[in-house]
Order: sequence, then C-alpha cells, then structure tokens
Amino acid sequence: MGEGQSDRQAPPSIKLLSSNLSDQIAAGEVVERPASVVKEVLENALDAGARHIDIEIEAGGTRLIRVRDDGFGIPRDQLSLALTRHATSKVSTLEDLEAITTLGFRGEALPSIASVSRLQLISAQDGNGWQVGSGAEGGDPQPAPHPQGTSVVVRDLFYNTPARRKFLRTERTEQSHIEEALRRLAMARFDVRFTWRYNGRTGQDLPIAESESARAGRVSKLLGRGFMEHALPLRSEAAGLSLEGWIATPAFARAAANMQYVYVNGRVIRDKTVSHAIRLGYADVLHQGRHPAYLLYLELDPTRVDVNVHPTKSEVRFRDSRMVHDFIHRAVRERLRDARAGVGETNPNVATDGAFGGAPAMPMPIAGFPGGGAGGLSGYRPNFEMAVAGGSVSETTGFYQLAAQPLATAVEGGLSPETEEVEIPPLGYALAQLHGIYILAQNRAGLVLVDMHAGHERILYERLKQQRADNPLVRQPLLIPLVLHLSGREMDTVLTAQDELLSHGFEVTPSGPESVTIREVPALLRDADASAMVRDLIADLQRFGSSNRTAQEQDQLLSTLACHTSVRANRQLTLPEMNGLLREMEATERSGQCNHGRPTWVQLDLSAIDKLFMRGR
Ligand code: ADP
Ligand code: MG
Repeated sequence: MGEGQSDRQAPPSIKLLSSNLSDQIAAGEVVERPASVVKEVLENALDAGARHIDIEIEAGGTRLIRVRDDGFGIPRDQLSLALTRHATSKVSTLEDLEAITTLGFRGEALPSIASVSRLQLISAQDGNGWQVGSGAEGGDPQPAPHPQGTSVVVRDLFYNTPARRKFLRTERTEQSHIEEALRRLAMARFDVRFTWRYNGRTGQDLPIAESESARAGRVSKLLGRGFMEHALPLRSEAAGLSLEGWIATPAFARAAANMQYVYVNGRVIRDKTVSHAIRLGYADVLHQGRHPAYLLYLELDPTRVDVNVHPTKSEVRFRDSRMVHDFIHRAVRERLRDARAGVGETNPNVATDGAFGGAPAMPMPIAGFPGGGAGGLSGYRPNFEMAVAGGSVSETTGFYQLAAQPLATAVEGGLSPETEEVEIPPLGYALAQLHGIYILAQNRAGLVLVDMHAGHERILYERLKQQRADNPLVRQPLLIPLVLHLSGREMDTVLTAQDELLSHGFEVTPSGPESVTIREVPALLRDADASAMVRDLIADLQRFGSSNRTAQEQDQLLSTLACHTSVRANRQLTLPEMNGLLREMEATERSGQCNHGRPTWVQLDLSAIDKLFMRGR
C-alpha cells in the first residue's frame, strides 16, 4: 500500500477553460450536425417575428448554411453580444424561465455555432446594416447593406473540430436531416413563408397558409399527399388544454414510426407520455407492429410545461402529465371511434388508381342477373365474373345504366324506385358475393368491396366490449395465491395504488417489506400470467399514473373470440344477410378496420373504374 502511494502522481491542477474551448464543448451538445444549425438559426428567426425566412444550403450544410429573415433585427451595439455565451434577449428573470413563450432561451446557439464554423451575423434595423463575424473576422461591427432583418451565414462547419467532422455522413444524408428540420419548422408556423434552396436549386417555396385548406396544402407538400388523403382532422379542448391537427386513419399506418409530429406550444418535441397516449388512442384499430401517422398541436399555458429539460429543447416535462395523457388519449380515441365504415369527411379506404396497377390482367365481364333481392347468389363464379343484382344490364352499358337507375332495387324493405333522391346508405346495397369472401355493393360513388369476415369480426368485437363495459368487472380468487417480489419503488406504488389495482381486478396485498401477494384476478383473464400483468400494471402506474393494461388484455381476448366466431370465408350469404351486415357495419364504431387493423371495406369510385377502361367522363 505504501509503495502504491509513492507511485501516485501529483493530481492535475484545476484550470478555467478558455472561452473558445468551453464554447466548443457546449457546441457538442447543441450542434450535433448541420441540421442542428438550421434548426437553431430558424428558431431565432421565428423568435424575431419573421414573416419570410429564406434558406440556402450547400454541400449538405457543411459548406454553407445561409438563413435570411425579415424580423426585427439586432441593434448594432448588440451584435457582438449575440455571439457571447449566455447572452439572450429572451429571458431575464426566473419567472420568465417558468413561462417561456419563445423557442430560444439559453443564449447558447449562436456562440456554439460560431465556435465550430466561420460565422457572419448581419442585421439591419431602420435601413442601417451591420455585420460581425466569428474568429479572425471578429471585432467591431462593419457596415454591410442588408434589408430589414437578419442574416446568419455559416461556412465550413466543423472545420476546426475534426472529431465532429468525422461523424458526418454523406452529403445526401446530412441534407435529408436538414430537410426534416425544415419540414418540422415549416409545419410549426403556417403564418410564415419559407423558401429554401439546395446547391442553388429550389427545394421548396411555401407561401403563408392561413386558411384551413391552405394549411392542409402545405402539409401535403411536406408529408406527401397520401397522409392528407388519409388524415382525419381533429380538434379537442378541455381543462385549458387544446389539441388540433390531423391523425391518419389506421389504413395509413407505417412500418416505421417516422411520421409522427407533436408540437407543444409551437415547439416540436418527442415525449413518451404523449406518444403513449396517442398509441393507446389507436388501440385495437392498428395492425400489429404498425405505427400511426399524425401531426398534432398541443397548446397549454406555458407555466404548465417545462421546456428547460434537454440541450436541444426537444423534450418537455408536463406539470400534470396524467391529465395531458388522458386528454390526448381520449381525443384520439374518440376521433377514431367516429370513423365508421362508410362515414367521415374523408374516405379512409379509397382505392387509388395505383392500387389496381392500371388495366386489370383479366377482363371483368358483367353478367346480367335476374333481380328479386331475396335469393342467394349461385355459388362460385370463375374468372372474376361479376354478377349484378337488380334489373337487366346490357353488356355495353353495364354499370353506367345501372348507376342511373334508383339504387333501391336490390333491397327488401322497400325504398320506392320512383323516388329521385333516395337516401342511399354509405356502404350502399349488396349486389353479390365474390368468391365467398367479399361483398360487392353499389353506393352513390360507385362500387364498394367489403371483406365480410373482417367486417363481421369488428361488429362482434364492439358488441363484446360493450357487454364488458356494461357489466361490473368480475374477480376470481386464485387457487394458490401468488407471491411477487418487488423493488422498494414498486412497493411504494402498490401501497398508494391498491384501490386502483383492485379496480383493474387484481387484489394485491403487501406480504413483506418487498413482497406482495396476488389473491384475486379478473375472471376474464384467469388464464393470463398474473404476475407479469401486475408488474406491467405497476410500471404503467409509475410512468403514466394510470394504466389501460387490463382493459387491453381483455380486449385482446375478446378480439380473438370475435375472430373465431365471425363469419368464415366461403359461407354463402343471401342478399338480405349481406345488406344486414352492411347496415350493422355503418352503425358500429371503428368499423372501418377489423380488430387487426386491416381495412374492412374499400370504395372503388366510378371514375376509378372508368380509368380501368380508359373511358373519359
Ligand atoms: P437564444 O435564442 O437562446 O436567446 P441564441 O444564441 O440563439 O440564443 O441567440 C442569441 C440572441 O441573439 C438572441 O437572444 C436574440 O436576441 C439575438 N438573435 C439571434 N438571432 C436573431 C435573429 N434572427 N433576429 C433577431 N435577433 C436574433
Ligand atoms: Mg436561439
């Protein structure tokens, strides 16, 4: 031991970092890649009240990032200060920090960027432009002509930090990160015009979009038309919280979670509470392993959310996260519940032209079929032959003539054929059954295809769930009580949440300092793994203050039950049976999707059918 001590070196002495080095260290947190520069500089422009922001990018942002705004500018005597760390015009007191309404507040971005690049800051107020620069270009402001507003010019990013430069990817990758940063900011502020160019070529020109449809247009440009075609507009308000935006129908679910945007008071964020709440809202309409797409704006009093959590300000902490969670969950859930088969502002299941890949490989002759409604169709018809109920249809005029006729012919229950404006239900009236799997129906827009098993499954499932909701939860004692060992923190949760656990159907009592005994479980879940479920429940209660797990597990069970009892393929249905199924689907919540998140029906508009036959209308 004595020897070891004599080997020990003198401890290194503590020194203050040079300001340039400490700026570079701070930059490591804020400026990860060119896209981070774009984000910070644009946020400053928005904070400055800009109405138009123009962006120029070269070589994936490593050679040049130039951002010009028409905001209120920076006075000459404060230009150098703007490049000094911890200098900000946005907060000055602790109260300010607790109710931040600007995107920036740390006073770190510009000095950080300046320490790892050659930066020029040019700004003009009242027609007088001045500029300062980082490094050798520093010093007193020099006159520089510039229109009202500010330009930030960042050249040779990371030229003096080789370690950071090595982590950069290809120009294309960096550019796609920049594109994503621009997209997020452009969707944050519809009242600002954005223009950007890559390597001198126009990337985007987004005019100010105040109206509802102009906003939707901007989102279409940024997220693609598919998103908007499947988007359900959402608007909900409660207890000082407001949620607006669009959620895509389950049919538009993605393989990756890469089209999920949430803004909190105008700031794009990632937050587990929020994404969990949305995900729950999609419970049992989403196909396994798929991710919903959404663009949502949450607004709340700034004192109810802490934005000072993360160096890049991309995370927040809600003062009352349980309330936020429940509010969002409910809003999304209710919006999706309203999306019944055949109902909605947008048709979630429109078969687009592409879905049919141009002309079909096989002709689809339309054969006449004697009407009368009641009788079932004779069984299997080969070669995609389609039988049409109601009226004689000639080979040549086919659908067109039929469409011109009142649609009620195939229905029992008597809508008078004379009525010109008959009320046609959204999913229309059944014409025939195809291969024992699909119902073909005709509605105003054209042809509707329904997957009868999927549709029936949803109807049964919603009925079973309703029954469960209407009846109190039945608990069943375990033959042999289960002992569960928990951590101290988990114990705390159990002690405060025993009633909550009971309301989920689990009777859990402490049986030692770090163990509990499970004596009763929900009868419906008697065969489930009770210890795993209780552990998950506790974890949920710790993280979100609430849990939907038992409901989810029970739903899972009911869903399987529904799946096994619903009509199987190849069962011949009569026309009245088919129409009955269609009417029930229209009346059932969430009937646009089966329990596994697949669509239950598809609309094929006449215009789409016309295209198949290259027929102009
Ligand atoms: P923060 O945004 O956190 O205040 P920054 O380092 O990003 O810190 O910017 C420092 C200061 O420079 C800001 O507080 C603001 O006063 C000024 N500033 C930066 N960019 C602009 C701009 N585009 N227009 C007007 N003022 C700006
Ligand atoms: Mg800033």
